Amino acid sequence: MKTLLIGEYREGKLLDSTYELFGFASQLNADTAMLLVGSEAQLPAYGGALYLADAASCGEYNPDLHKQLILEAVQKESPDYIVFLHSSYGWDLAPRIAASLNIAQISEVIAATDGGFEVGCCNAKMRRTVKASSATAVLTIQAGAFPAVQPGGSPTVQNLAVVIGGALEFVGYEPAEKKDVDLAKAEIIVSAGRGVGKKDNITVIQALATALGGELGASRPVVDAEWVSHSHQVGTTGQTVSPKLYVACGISGAIQHLAGMKKSDFILAINKDKDAPIGEIADVLVVADVMQFVPALTAKVAR
Ligand SMILES: Cc1cc2nc3c(=O)[nH]c(=O)nc-3n(C[C@H](O)[C@H](O)[C@H](O)COP(=O)(O)OP(=O)(O)OC[C@H]3O[C@@H](n4cnc5c(N)ncnc54)[C@H](O)[C@@H]3O)c2cc1C
Repeated sequence: MKTLLIGEYREGKLLDSTYELFGFASQLNADTAMLLVGSEAQLPAYGGALYLADAASCGEYNPDLHKQLILEAVQKESPDYIVFLHSSYGWDLAPRIAASLNIAQISEVIAATDGGFEVGCCNAKMRRTVKASSATAVLTIQAGAFPAVQPGGSPTVQNLAVVIGGALEFVGYEPAEKKDVDLAKAEIIVSAGRGVGKKDNITVIQALATALGGELGASRPVVDAEWVSHSHQVGTTGQTVSPKLYVACGISGAIQHLAGMKKSDFILAINKDKDAPIGEIADVLVVADVMQFVPALTAKVAR
């Protein structure tokens, strides 16, 4: 089995998440080739075949041109799977490749099973397993679903000629609006999940964050319900954080939340369900009602 992995650069830097593609390929026990639109100066630690096009000439983000480059590599490699990260780059390019080759696309893969792939459904409450009916398929993998693996070594680079033209022109990046809280820099984060029950209870979670000298974080349902603003959201569609201490209060541990906080040094989870998935990555799981445990902990800390 062979995979063609499509890595990513941002502002001249190879993204760390590119290594999750190798983690995915190693779970499939697949041979790999990689394609990057980047630069010789920032190559991955990987001793295999690498198709490289120069981002300085064809733009770091230009789905029209990048599609042509990928199709060229596909023709040379005949992979079974063409694999993207499920990022704004991947979800723009992947369907263009699938449509051009008239093959299946499976999006937001979170696990590989025997010949199939698991994807989330019902707002990530359930998983379904799907198989591609075409011999070759395009996949996008969910951030954080597969471990980052550095294969090591230096790639055998094959430079791809830059195609000129296309209907789009890459203009540049625009920084996001400044947020009222920068969780990326916080050393302690206390996050509220749906398990806190109602908006009024956020003050209880905020009180623990304040007592610990940390910031308030939140899972997506808490933000969607407008209990706190989006700047507090942790996860794939929120912020990625790596504090010294992360306290997850009434958070189940869905993959999209874990992707944003699993690099925390120490994770304390409080959940009334002893089998909640957050327990798999937590250093300590306290099985308790969050509204009983958190005020008691805050009182101890504040003393
Ligand atoms: C495309 C996409 C992007 C997403 N992006 C994000 C993202 O960036 N961030 C994010 O967080 N989610 C994101 N999600 C949503 C994600 O899939 C989950 O739905 C979400 O993380 C669940 O939030 P939660 O853990 O707070 O709620 P739930 O999954 O409902 O879990 C609540 C938990 O609280 C516990 N609980 C209930 N009552 C109590 C109590 N009294 N005391 C203690 N524990 C209690 C329950 O046992 C349960 O484990 C995304 C989903 C999709 C499809």
